[in-house]
Amino acid sequence: MIVGGGVAGASTAHALATLGVSSVLLERSADYPELNRGDVIQPLSLSLLDRWGVLPQIEALGGYRVTASGFFHRTHGFLGEWGFAELETAHPHQTILRHTNLHRALYAAFPNHGGLVTVRRGARVTEVDDTTVTGTYQGEPFTAVGRFLVAADGPQSMLRRAAGIRFDTLHDYAHEYLMPSCPRPDVPELEHRTMRYVGGDGLTMIIPLDGGAEVRVPFQIPVAEEARWRSMTPQQLWQQMIARAPVLAKAPGPVTENPHSYRIHLRHADRYVRDRLCLVGEAAHVVAPTVAQGMNMAMLDADVLAAVIRRTLDGRDELELYDRLRRPANEQVLTASHDQTLVQAATGPRVDEHALRDYTWLADPERRREVAERVGGLRTKTAEQWGLLS
Ligand SMILES: Cc1cc2nc3c(=O)[nH]c(=O)nc-3n(C[C@H](O)[C@H](O)[C@H](O)COP(=O)(O)OP(=O)(O)OC[C@H]3O[C@@H](n4cnc5c(N)ncnc54)[C@H](O)[C@@H]3O)c2cc1C
Repeated sequence: MIVGGGVAGASTAHALATLGVSSVLLERSADYPELNRGDVIQPLSLSLLDRWGVLPQIEALGGYRVTASGFFHRTHGFLGEWGFAELETAHPHQTILRHTNLHRALYAAFPNHGGLVTVRRGARVTEVDDTTVTGTYQGEPFTAVGRFLVAADGPQSMLRRAAGIRFDTLHDYAHEYLMPSCPRPDVPELEHRTMRYVGGDGLTMIIPLDGGAEVRVPFQIPVAEEARWRSMTPQQLWQQMIARAPVLAKAPGPVTENPHSYRIHLRHADRYVRDRLCLVGEAAHVVAPTVAQGMNMAMLDADVLAAVIRRTLDGRDELELYDRLRRPANEQVLTASHDQTLVQAATGPRVDEHALRDYTWLADPERRREVAERVGGLRTKTAEQWGLLS
């Protein structure tokens, strides 16, 4: 029984079905959410999505391959870039897809599993007792019982709270992200590449979307200034964006959507398993989006948890193994993402002063490779690499 049908919950259903385990997926929202965050899919995630049969849907919905990430400064220009091309992996690139389309792709692939996944969109769980959940489905009450219960109900997880699992806030960042989109500037720097402007104003990312026709421009603003930024007209916002990322002046037009904003936190549950309840995705951990690890962690959770559940059903292991394998691995990703966030999101005149010095590491091929492997998720073990699929 999986509660929450975002990336973590839908991935868990795929991973279980791939191992022949049936699941019921309960998602409170009847429609696909129009969230404008979580568009970057890492190389390791692509391998898992490939195994689950989701990649054709991702391509069909406009997945756009990105092979490198360039760093820029608004006055110094190009600082250097790292890329995935030389990595030994089946998918040496990121794929960019609107988050809502990733949800559509995950759901469109469920029929491949021959009825092992039962989807109930519009099912809101309101209470939980051991592995029995109750709630409403299309306005009618329901009760459902599973052998195991998976909490994939996001950072506010009701299931995690009901189980009394602590969710520590390790860091509240002083910045948040505005996430506007606009038509893509026609420049080679964005041909199958993302751009990152770093400097005294903090981080501005430019991420090609919709097969490369548009770009998402997540950029950092101080939490204390949210009201001021949200009251700007599209034209004022556009001018501010160009000041931070001059390449946007070459875009054919201003922002195309009213931007959402997202506060940024670092949080980790102190355990992933209690009795027959397991946490996956943001119910278990929340990370800053600086190096786009949230969904990669969620898919790896799904991959390892499914294998552990399969082994538990076969009497060969116990659920606690999931906690022992995934919590330390995620802790490392949280720490590395936090360190990167402190560097790339630093603000103030000294950041501009030291921009050239701070990014000299981009000239070192070893460092570039290490970053590509870490960001791509290739330094974290899958269920197969843990030997759980034997
Ligand atoms: C600004 C920003 C940019 C990001 N960019 C990236 C990126 O590029 N790449 C990346 O990998 N990650 C990124 N992330 C992180 C990523 O979006 C999340 O980690 C990931 O989407 C979380 O998925 P989830 O399924 O765990 O949680 P959610 O997406 O929160 O899903 C939880 C689901 O549970 C449902 N639910 C909740 N309660 C109940 C209930 N009681 N009953 C039934 N259903 C319920 C909700 O409706 C929801 O659909 C970004 C995050 C932010 C904030």
